[in-house]
Amino acid sequence: MTRDERLAALEQIANEVRACSACRLAEGRTRAVPGEGDPDTEVIFVGEGPGFNEDREGRPFVGRAGGLLVRLLGSIGWQRESVFITNVVKCRPPDNRDPEPDEIAACAPYLRRQLEVLDPAVVVTLGRYSMGTFMPGARIGQVHGTTRPADPSTGARDATVLAMYHPAAALRTPALERESYEDIARLAGILQRSRDRRAAAAAAAAVPSAEQAAGTVAASPTGAVATPAGAGAAQAPLGASIQTAEPPAPADAESQLTLF
Ligand code: SF4
Repeated sequence: MTRDERLAALEQIANEVRACSACRLAEGRTRAVPGEGDPDTEVIFVGEGPGFNEDREGRPFVGRAGGLLVRLLGSIGWQRESVFITNVVKCRPPDNRDPEPDEIAACAPYLRRQLEVLDPAVVVTLGRYSMGTFMPGARIGQVHGTTRPADPSTGARDATVLAMYHPAAALRTPALERESYEDIARLAGILQRSRDRRAAAAAAAAVPSAEQAAGTVAASPTGAVATPAGAGAAQAPLGASIQTAEPPAPADAESQLTLF
């Protein structure tokens, strides 16, 4: 899929979100918040739902929590424009209450389609409800800062999931804010390893195709299938990828990384 095709697909999803009334959250919203970011990114951040400011502006993470997210990204030399940011529910729950399971379920197809379009190498979950989508049954206090392979049924067909606290929770508790800086310090290394894994998988998949192509003209795979986002990123570095030159670190050493 080309950049223009991804842009068009994301805008199509956004238009559907803006017109959606599939759950009760449509009744109280001012503006739906589909999400925004670089259509070429390898990293998607998934929060829980829009708050007061997001509901007014129709953009994700523009309030105080968004300010912390920008600072967290800045601590590793990234900008929010280099990633894609969205939520598990696209409309504001009343009084900023937690989203209900049926609301998350109703909204899930939009997130799944966004993930299918973006095909990220890394999904960063922000908060319990986002984590619950990608790490069912986990507890945020135990798994923040850790990774798991994404279940392809989420729409992320070959991604690593990194769990983090929601920035709003980190703003309320200094210890969580400190841990959030430590968690995001792992992100560049996690992206590099995911990118390497995807490139290796693509190379392995290309071998039989190349052999097949040598025997018959008809068997040429499409670039969209054979070339993962990571391989594409090597040709056209993304905003996020520029900062990932550090060599892969073993998990235990990586956990020692800190910004302080
Ligand atoms: S939260 Fe999602 S499912 Fe519910 S109305 Fe908004 S866009 Fe539709």
